[in-house]
Amino acid sequence: MSIATTPSAAASSPASFADLPRGRSDLVVVGAGIIGLAHAFEAVRRGLGVTVVERDHRSVGASVRNFGHCCVTAQRGSQLELALRSRSGWLDAAARAGLWLSEAGALVVARSATELAVLEELREERGADAVRLRTRDEVAEALGRATDAREDLVGGALLPADLRVDPRRAAPRPADWLARQPGVHITWGTNVVGTEPGTVHTSRGPVHGERILLCVGHDLDRLHPREAEAHGVERCRLSMARVEAPGPLRTDAAVLSATSMLRYDAFTAMPSAGRLRAEVAAHSPELLNIVANVMFTRLPDGSLLAGDSHAYGVTETPFQDEATSRLLLREVARVLGVPEVRVTQRWQGVYASSTRGPLLLRDVAPGVRALSVTSGIGMTLSFGLAAATFEGTLTTQD
Ligand SMILES: Cc1cc2nc3c(=O)[nH]c(=O)nc-3n(C[C@H](O)[C@H](O)[C@H](O)COP(=O)(O)OP(=O)(O)OC[C@H]3O[C@@H](n4cnc5c(N)ncnc54)[C@H](O)[C@@H]3O)c2cc1C
Repeated sequence: MSIATTPSAAASSPASFADLPRGRSDLVVVGAGIIGLAHAFEAVRRGLGVTVVERDHRSVGASVRNFGHCCVTAQRGSQLELALRSRSGWLDAAARAGLWLSEAGALVVARSATELAVLEELREERGADAVRLRTRDEVAEALGRATDAREDLVGGALLPADLRVDPRRAAPRPADWLARQPGVHITWGTNVVGTEPGTVHTSRGPVHGERILLCVGHDLDRLHPREAEAHGVERCRLSMARVEAPGPLRTDAAVLSATSMLRYDAFTAMPSAGRLRAEVAAHSPELLNIVANVMFTRLPDGSLLAGDSHAYGVTETPFQDEATSRLLLREVARVLGVPEVRVTQRWQGVYASSTRGPLLLRDVAPGVRALSVTSGIGMTLSFGLAAATFEGTLTTQD
């Protein structure tokens, strides 16, 4: 989609849910998660007028419930290209909106020779700058492990291109910044019930725009069920917890483990990945049963966001399984080398998922496009997707 650069009629106005814009924006974005907001950011960068319509009174979807990990290096092919573009977009957005962002990268911890072999193979493919192998002691130091608590470590790798943001601020802060820009209107607490070319129908009346972009994640099945079904959209439900700052942890990098290497394309494409899966299946089948990706990231106050498991269904179950949560926390404690971690919050995250491709991209009517990330890496891709959308280079192959 190339967005027409017609002058905006949308006047700058305070963000108020009761206050629909009267004019016609260049772009109406539905959904104030990171995908919608990244597109609004890109629209502003190009001098376009934009209206964002969000059903809730603040962002509370997948974009605030995740790890805040822009997982760049673990992507492959066109997704790696998008992730690298997105990286620049995040840096730019953070500078403009005053958003906390860490360039500490990601640390992948290897606790077996096979895990290390996957990392060495990735280093061979990407080069020693992109995948920096770490010794056992370097990994132990980063994790703050005592010298007598390193036995299970083999080594690891630092992926310096990865970024981290605080997910609890990463959507709200850009939304605040956008709301202060001329030509931008953010309409909270307003449910979109349908669209037609040039018009978004909401629970508070119509909103008009030259182009319309639906960034509603898994809830696309409420607005356009046929499009969602055609792409096999499901809800993926993840168990998450915030745990108290473990005293000695030294790294600000996102910390990934063997189960992370079973999830991301860059690792699964390595020759030793099959052997790694067999190894994890042999020593920790319970982690494969909950489709675990044992990892954690550190918030600015030192506490950790820890998770996660994956359960799939068109409608998610509302019940959180304590055994799953306990298992994940046990594994996080093992990576840290501490007896246990203390939980301060638990929640369930939900994102759009599909086995048919990482992106749902459909023109549902002339000038009305739906875009949902269906691979659980929307934070990583967001700003890259936005740039590609405006250039007209985004395809369903991405
Ligand atoms: C636990 C968890 C961990 C994750 N970790 C990572 C990670 O580390 N790195 C990464 O890259 N990705 C991660 N992800 C995935 C990432 O969070 C998502 O891909 C991304 O947030 C999707 O953004 P979004 O804007 O599409 O969705 P959302 O943030 O869910 O936003 C969609 C918005 O649309 C609004 N909406 C829906 N329907 C309507 C309607 N009819 N009218 C108006 N508004 C509507 C919703 O209220 C919502 O605010 C994780 C996800 C979860 C849940």
